[in-house]
Amino acid sequence: MSITEEDDFLDRLKALWEYQAAEAELEQMERSLKNTETRKKLIRQQQLFQNNQQHLKQLEQESVIANNKMMEISAQADALKKQMEQKDAEISESAEYDLEDLFLEDVREIIKECEGIKSAIEMNKRKLVDIMHKLEKSETDIKETLVKMSHAKKAFDQLKAAHSLELEAGKGDLEKVRANVAKAAKSVDKELMEKYKEIKQHRPNPVAYFKNKRCQGCNMELPSGVLQDMKAGDKIVLCENCGRILYAAED
Ligand SMILES: [Zn+2]
Repeated sequence: MSITEEDDFLDRLKALWEYQAAEAELEQMERSLKNTETRKKLIRQQQLFQNNQQHLKQLEQESVIANNKMMEISAQADALKKQMEQKDAEISESAEYDLEDLFLEDVREIIKECEGIKSAIEMNKRKLVDIMHKLEKSETDIKETLVKMSHAKKAFDQLKAAHSLELEAGKGDLEKVRANVAKAAKSVDKELMEKYKEIKQHRPNPVAYFKNKRCQGCNMELPSGVLQDMKAGDKIVLCENCGRILYAAED
């Protein structure tokens, strides 16, 4: 291999190295645009909204259950009322009898039954009051949650608008750096670019400096054969540990 060809290969590696630097700058810029305080707040606000939405759904479900329960208790109350009316009718009927025709035990039985129905009605009323309290509380809770959601939505919209402005402001710089990347890509050899992209799928910065016998990508010391391969300067030399393309500018 002649000197010119070696130089040529080194130049090709250098072009790839420069392409990597341009791409890293672009990625850094994209990351920082995505990571502004505004965007972080935006994500928090979205989370808040979703949490409230979840809470609202739960409250609504509970409210449906409470309403069903209330209807059930109302039906029981109606049934008890009918029973009571029936007992009243029985008592009115027996009032027409002569006193000596009534058996004391029957009277006691009727009184006992009436008392049973009465206490069932009382119990029913308490349950009803309980459930109505629950429903009232849940209604207040639903209203409060809706207000919170509306606030969160408002804050979200404002932050979103602010973030759009940030992105818009960064657009010019971003386009400049993107153009740099495209320009750098034109100088890169096709075979090297393919290898670069393949490595990039599982490793950041696919090209690494080879310095002091070490791959600077993973910091592993490499056998002396690697240096000889690199000096030959006619093929891609990969780090046997991390698989990065080795590049030695100074040697
Ligand atoms: Zn390595």
